Amino acid sequence: MMFSPVHRFRDIERKPEYLHPEKCIPPPRPGSLGTMWFIRDGCGIACAVITWLLVIYADFVVLFVMLIPSRNYIYSAINGVVFNSLAFLALASHFRAMLTDPGAVPKGNATKEFIESLQLKPGQVVYKCPKCCSIKPDRAHHCSVCKRCIRKMDHHCPWVNNCVGENNQKYFVLFTMYIALISLHALIMVGFHFLYCFEEDWTECSSFAPPTTVILLILLCFEALLFLIFTSVMFGTQVHSICTDETGIEQLKKEERRWAKKTKWMNMKAVFGHPFSIAWLNPFATPDQGKADPYQYVV
Ligand SMILES: [Zn+2]
Ligand SMILES: [Zn+2]
Repeated sequence: MMFSPVHRFRDIERKPEYLHPEKCIPPPRPGSLGTMWFIRDGCGIACAVITWLLVIYADFVVLFVMLIPSRNYIYSAINGVVFNSLAFLALASHFRAMLTDPGAVPKGNATKEFIESLQLKPGQVVYKCPKCCSIKPDRAHHCSVCKRCIRKMDHHCPWVNNCVGENNQKYFVLFTMYIALISLHALIMVGFHFLYCFEEDWTECSSFAPPTTVILLILLCFEALLFLIFTSVMFGTQVHSICTDETGIEQLKKEERRWAKKTKWMNMKAVFGHPFSIAWLNPFATPDQGKADPYQYVV
């Protein structure tokens, strides 16, 4: 993830004549190309498919190598239900993060009519994105993969094949949290299963031959450890950036704060919804963000 030097980041068009509104094609009519948001990026689609396959592999080993052959039915039932529920929530969060518009600014809205309709005062600055011909609200950034300007863009994540921005950050945070939880749960079960296999002398503990069992368990162990570290670091970073109300890009660019400072709790509610409830953990609940005016421009 390389970023160009700071001064190149803002597409500064400080004088109105540089806006060239006549060069902008009018924005496409909403709904003309369907309403589903999906980024057609080969690398992102491959990463998203790998994510599902990794979860499916983990579920396979948990069920068919560890839980079903176990003779402790209560242990198997409880762990099976917990693991599959968390895996389902992880995949649901993944789908929501991938298929939710992260906060794209309408393309080509930098038209003469639109700029006039903003009724800018003399000396007021608006930013135009030269790539997608849109007027950028404050804190929006252009993503070269999505080919759009995204409000409160944090970063583009190939694992969810989408930008993480204002409208889908909740699902992304839940995705990292549930993946961290299933990884931890799988690691604990692998640990217990190794102990169980040593006790049983590898004869009764799995329906597979001992070498296959060992390989499947070690691969799951590696996968779980790697993703536990990766997703828990990501989860911590995301919660920190939500609490301080500073996106990943803003932290990298060390942008000076132009927006009002709010409490950590208010910032959390802005992403996860008002008021605090169990819906914060539910990837199917769309957060009621009580949005501020999406077109706040720098004055
Ligand atoms: Zn743009
Ligand atoms: Zn993007």
